[in-house]
Amino acid sequence: MSVYSPEQDFLAFSRANEWSIEQPSGFTLDNGTGVEVWDTGVIAFVPAQVTSHDIILSCGVHGNETGPIELCNEFVRDILDGKLVLSTRVLFIFGNPASMNIGERFVQENMNRLFSGAHSQAPGLSNHERIRAKKLESYVQRFYLAGGDEGRVRTHYDLHTAIRGSKNEKFAVYPYQKERKHSTLQLQIMLACGVNTILLSNSPTTTFSYFSCDQFGADAFTVELGKVRPFGQNDMTRFIEVKQTLKALLSGRDMGLSPYDEADFNLFKVSRAIDKHDDSFEFYFADDVVNFTSFPRGFLLASEKDTQYKIIEEGEAIVFPNANVANGNRAVLMVVPTQLPT
Ligand code: ZN
Repeated sequence: MSVYSPEQDFLAFSRANEWSIEQPSGFTLDNGTGVEVWDTGVIAFVPAQVTSHDIILSCGVHGNETGPIELCNEFVRDILDGKLVLSTRVLFIFGNPASMNIGERFVQENMNRLFSGAHSQAPGLSNHERIRAKKLESYVQRFYLAGGDEGRVRTHYDLHTAIRGSKNEKFAVYPYQKERKHSTLQLQIMLACGVNTILLSNSPTTTFSYFSCDQFGADAFTVELGKVRPFGQNDMTRFIEVKQTLKALLSGRDMGLSPYDEADFNLFKVSRAIDKHDDSFEFYFADDVVNFTSFPRGFLLASEKDTQYKIIEEGEAIVFPNANVANGNRAVLMVVPTQLPT
């Protein structure tokens, strides 16, 4: 274990300190921006002059989703080098360095099912990912509360890449909003990031983005930026739009947003989730069928033991199918086209 110093590559430092660091550290850049390293993979920046915006960018909650990890590390490097000058407070979180080192989604447990307190439900804080999820919640809280409450605009983009390709390469999950209205400004920002497919979640979950939305009123999204690839094998040109838009957001420059028009988006809502209950669970579509593919009504989608799962609604499409989940977990999410609730 070691203490971070600014000439080190922050991602390399985090991967060398898989679950914790010797001690937090802090320093100030020549341009007056304060830098605080709170933990492995957790670095906060506070510029001398700030807007009312508090932004969290997280990545690597799944360790093999390398594109956004490399993107965030580039942002961190550019800020440290003084090339990217901030106008907002920003917290970067690299979620699961240990799973990055083994090139897997997680070490013992899928961390994006462990937020909103799920980490402490039975069997309790029994593995590193549960402990890490609890710590990450505390860092989100610390960051937002330190920014103050009055008139703050809180944003959290949790950046991922999907196991499968998608009909629309980039898409985002908009967490359940309870009584709040969906933000068309946020959708405009997503569009500028190259994300035009939005899945509106209809219930509370244990994802990182829902946690920030629910607990701190943040405009939060799980953003899927393409397909999983190993470190160094990402075509970074696919991230140009998201990079430019987030850079503009962080530095307070004009993001060049188009006026909001619902016709620019493919909006979906969840129709149901199909859970796996038995080891015999299997899908009847190919491994390379992409997210948001729809099937005709009556199509046999999956089966296990004596249960068959068929398409029940015209236009129903699949998202995040995974037959390898543990029994009792969601094997696929079913979605249908929708409009923004008024
Ligand atoms: Zn992911």
